[in-house]
Amino acid sequence: MRYPIAFPVFEPGSVWLTGAGPGDPGLLTLHAVHALGQADAILYDALVDDRVLDLARPGTLCEFVGKRGGQPSPKQEQINERLVALATSGKRVVRLKGGDPFVFGRGGEEAMALTRAGIPFRVIPGVTAGLAGLTAAGVPATTRDTNHALILATGHLAEDADHDANWAALARTGQPIVLYMAMRTLDRITASLIAGGLPGDTPAIVVADATMPDQRVLESTLSRISAEASAAGFEPPAIVGIGSIVSLRGLLASATVIGGAVVLADAEAAE
Ligand code: SAH
Repeated sequence: MRYPIAFPVFEPGSVWLTGAGPGDPGLLTLHAVHALGQADAILYDALVDDRVLDLARPGTLCEFVGKRGGQPSPKQEQINERLVALATSGKRVVRLKGGDPFVFGRGGEEAMALTRAGIPFRVIPGVTAGLAGLTAAGVPATTRDTNHALILATGHLAEDADHDANWAALARTGQPIVLYMAMRTLDRITASLIAGGLPGDTPAIVVADATMPDQRVLESTLSRISAEASAAGFEPPAIVGIGSIVSLRGLLASATVIGGAVVLADAEAAE
C-alpha cells in the first residue's frame, strides 16, 4: 500500500522502539507498519498480537522476550543486551512493545541502554491501552462537563511500599483515574482510594482485552468493582477506569458494539 508519507530510512545497525498499540492491528500507526516491513529482527512482548507480527517480511528474525505461561521472562538487562548485540551486528531491529513504548513499558530504560551503547534509535509512539480501553468501551476520556485532567497510574505496586502511588493524593484531585496492571492489586487500590476520600459509589469500569474480538467490559462502582471483576473471572490484560466519565457510557446507550469497537451510531439521540 502506498501512503503520502515520507517514511524515515531504517538504517542497518539501528533500533526502532515501536508501539504496537492495544491489540487490534488496525490501531497500529503507519510508522509501525513501515518499521515491521523493513525490520531484520523483531523483539516482541507478550501483549503483541500475532497478526501484528504477520506484517513482518518472511524470514524476519522474531524473538519473544515477554512473560509466557508462568515461565520467567528475560531480565530487562538481558533484553537491553540483546538489542545492542543485534544492532551491533548490523541488523535493523524493531523492539515492539504493547501500547506506547514509553507508557509503563520500560521503553525509557531501553532507550537509556541504547544511548549508553551508542546505538542510534528512534521511538515510534503507539496508542496506549488506557486510552484505547476507555474509548473502545464507549467511555470518553474527557468531556468539558466532567474533567480537565486524567490520571494514568500503574497498579503494579513497588515491593517497597514507599514507592507505591500516593492513592489518597490522587483521590483528592477528583479527576478520573485509569489503572494499568491493577488486576492483582485492585482490592488494595480501591480501598486506598476510598480511604483517601473517593466515594465508594464512584462509577468504575474494567475493560479486559480492549479492542480485541474477546473484549470484556464490567461496569460497577469503586467499592464493588474488585470483587465483581474477580467473581466474573476478569484476567489481565485489563485497564480500570474510575470516575464520573464512566457513567457517560450509559448516556451512549444506543451505541452498538461491532467486533470489540463501540460505534456511537446514534449519540445525538441520547442527549
Ligand atoms: N505500554 C503499554 C502498557 C504496558 S503495561 C501501553 O501503553 O498500553 C501492561 C498493561 O497494559 C496491562 O497490565 C494492562 O493494564 C494494559 N493493557 C495492555 N493491553 C491491553 C488491552 N488490550 N486491554 C486492556 N488492557 C491492556
